[in-house]
Amino acid sequence: VLLLPGFVNAHSHAFQRAFRGHVQWRPKGRDDFWSWREAMYSVANELPPEGIEAMSRLAFLEMAEAGVTQVGEFHYLHHNPDGSKYDDPNELARRVIAAALDVGIRICLLRVAYGRAGHNRASVPAQRRFIDLSPTAALEAIEALSQLADERVSVGLAPHSIRAVPKSWLQEFAQFSGPIHMHVSEQPSENGAAMAEYGCSPLAVIQKQGMLSPLFTAVHMTHPLSGDLSRLKEGGARICVCPTTELDLGDGLLPNVYREAIPLCVGSDSQARIDMMAEARALELHARALAGQRNVLTPVNEAHGLAKRLLKAVGSEGAAALGADQAGVLAVGAKADLVGLSLDRPAALGVPPLEAAVFSSNPDWVKDVWVGGTRVVRDGEHPHRASILRAARQWLRH
Ligand SMILES: [Zn+2]
Repeated sequence: VLLLPGFVNAHSHAFQRAFRGHVQWRPKGRDDFWSWREAMYSVANELPPEGIEAMSRLAFLEMAEAGVTQVGEFHYLHHNPDGSKYDDPNELARRVIAAALDVGIRICLLRVAYGRAGHNRASVPAQRRFIDLSPTAALEAIEALSQLADERVSVGLAPHSIRAVPKSWLQEFAQFSGPIHMHVSEQPSENGAAMAEYGCSPLAVIQKQGMLSPLFTAVHMTHPLSGDLSRLKEGGARICVCPTTELDLGDGLLPNVYREAIPLCVGSDSQARIDMMAEARALELHARALAGQRNVLTPVNEAHGLAKRLLKAVGSEGAAALGADQAGVLAVGAKADLVGLSLDRPAALGVPPLEAAVFSSNPDWVKDVWVGGTRVVRDGEHPHRASILRAARQWLRH
């Protein structure tokens, strides 16, 4: 067994597990991110609170069994589908948090602020579930959720994107002292909209509001614009790359200069697949495909340097993105968040252990998982797997 720091999944939308596999066909002439989003919106609006909780539990179960000990949940379902508030305005966030705690993994609830459909665009009825009336509403929700007394729970702020959050809101958010995550430049049209509204890149708008810091994570950055690299560097910010989702959605590949120069973490995002090592190895394999070279993300002549760099992306870099100190490492005084991978299998024979984990493993190799010293997965199986699957079935598409 190879013992590693537990994996950190820094970008997740748990409920999107509900339609995995049901969008792998082409209903009309052209299918892309925007038509996928229509399908996602219909799922987002048909799930009641108990369905969202059951889907979250299913996604987090799958994560735990794949070695994930902490998830950054980018949570944007807040209200009833008609936009009215639940009696407790944080009903859905609390259910998602409860799902993570039931499974036994840590959660950083990245509470999304969503203010509008876009620049000069009327809001779409399908977005009513996400929309806050003011930036204060988002900050109040975070304040209420931060009162939850469980050391496995933390909260952060997630202004959804430059499209969905106007500059005036970002100005208020710049004072926020915890982790801030934001979708940035996932699609070229998002850049075009920012250029039309502000005359600069989405990241330049974010920088001008004073939001770039080591606690800022730009999710995706698939289509950066000129100057964005130095903006990230100066701010000390990082990128969360979600390679399997970015391929699934046809977003594109993060340019290599960003992979080499900026700290990277990874996320399972749309849950098209939950396999953190697949995300980590894709960082390097996509870099090779773009560069026409081998061993791109590794220092020269450092033994196991590449595997170590990619393990950092699923470990300490992800933990830092979620504001967690002393996580993602094996050290005295660090949190005992651990994953044991079984190397007792033909595919690992003769392969150096770290390289086997990073380049050959799949989630079936996960044998045991501990969170804060408590074992949550034993011999590859979570003790509540059967009941969680049973409860999830009625909310899945058939
Ligand atoms: Zn996302």
